[in-house]
Amino acid sequence: MSDQLRVSCRCNTVKGYVAVGDLSAVPRYVCHCDDCQAFIRYLGRAEDVLDRWGGTEVVHVTPASLHLESGRDHLRCLNLSGGGTLRWFAACCGSPIGSTPKSPGFPFVSLVSTFIRDTPEKMSIGPVRGRLMLKYAYGDVAPLRKDSLSAFRMFLGVARSILIERLFRRHRTTPFFLPGTSSPISPPHALTAQEREQAYGALSAGNGGTA
Ligand SMILES: [Zn+2]
Ligand SMILES: [Zn+2]
Repeated sequence: MSDQLRVSCRCNTVKGYVAVGDLSAVPRYVCHCDDCQAFIRYLGRAEDVLDRWGGTEVVHVTPASLHLESGRDHLRCLNLSGGGTLRWFAACCGSPIGSTPKSPGFPFVSLVSTFIRDTPEKMSIGPVRGRLMLKYAYGDVAPLRKDSLSAFRMFLGVARSILIERLFRRHRTTPFFLPGTSSPISPPHALTAQEREQAYGALSAGNGGTA
């Protein structure tokens, strides 16, 4: 028995659901890192996604639990810094979807919570477990300090989930990679120098999050 979190991009072209066993156990975090901020700025969505401290709220789900019913051909991804993370978005309307490791062998999705529709199920997700990478937050961050969480502690939960998915061989079921391969369904886009300047340039000034 599982609940469903309905998901869709802003224009409703990419849509589907996440099958969740226990909504209250879905891990929820806010990440303030420069890459998360740059991703949202690249898409021009700072105003409606970033919180007043430049944080992006995400929930952690498995790729096998994310079922896209339509619009999969609109998925695109960025590889911001040449690192091991792919940042996925819906090209139809520039809605952020989330990030995954570069390899399907690490079955994990950090889903941007604005991709989840506002339903009673969404309201039943557990509370924010912590705020990551506060050193990149801007504004008065004093009220956030008590919620600061190290990336290592967050990673422990991810690692356990990855091991379970691999144990049950569910890592091959993913909407983000071509079946049976390590190839993303859309070639990762590396930012041009100009895109990089626009996405990261505003970071120190913190002028992207006007909420
Ligand atoms: Zn981040
Ligand atoms: Zn769309």
